[in-house]
Amino acid sequence: MAPDFDRMTALFLDLDGTLLEIAATPETVVVPPALPVLLDHLRALLGGALAIVSGRSIVTIDQLLKPFKSAAAGEHGVGLRFDDGTTEEMPAGLAVPEAWRDSLRTLAERWPGILIEPKQHGCAVHYRLAPERHDDVWKAVRALVPDDHPLFRLIPAREAVEIGPRATSKGFAVERLMAGSPFRGRRPIFVGDDFTDEAGMSAARRFGGEGLRVAEMFKGDPALVRGWLANNAERLGGRPLPQRMSAGASA
Ligand SMILES: [Mg+2]
Repeated sequence: MAPDFDRMTALFLDLDGTLLEIAATPETVVVPPALPVLLDHLRALLGGALAIVSGRSIVTIDQLLKPFKSAAAGEHGVGLRFDDGTTEEMPAGLAVPEAWRDSLRTLAERWPGILIEPKQHGCAVHYRLAPERHDDVWKAVRALVPDDHPLFRLIPAREAVEIGPRATSKGFAVERLMAGSPFRGRRPIFVGDDFTDEAGMSAARRFGGEGLRVAEMFKGDPALVRGWLANNAERLGGRPLPQRMSAGASA
């Protein structure tokens, strides 16, 4: 069972597969209506020390969790937003060459079920709807981005692979946010479900905190993560939330 946390915690939460159930396509995720309310409540209880750390862009994070806004890291740490609303881009202006995106789009037209998700800096290729294309997709992206490419790297994800800037990671995002207010001096807890979250969890441990894997601590079920957050919010806030999160609220 996941441990309770106190008001001196800093929460770093992945989005897809952690707070939200994975959907067939990135566009079709369902956000429980009570989730933005819960996150807002938690953020207040933690003095602002709550960050969403996702492979999605910060713009998309905001759209999904509307009207909730917090510190955030988008595209695996490429984009950062601090609790005071200031933003940072690392590395500035670096984006996947358009020719790469074009060649991936050409492949997607040939291979039904392959989805290309262009991002501000990177580009994700999803094969959830065509798992038999796993090897083909990896061969294609490896041809674009060799292991020793100086600027970009391949980021494996759940039934997807992403091309992103080499210089950053979710671990970098945690370190950058922990360096300033209101995160500094707090004990970080990073919750994630994916390969890219491991760097964030390692960073949290370096700050004396912990990393919680959704598969191990929450039976792979985002409803149990939401339930755990809701229970802690109620415990710390001393008042019930306006709406129970879901049947999984007793995590
Ligand atoms: Mg995830």
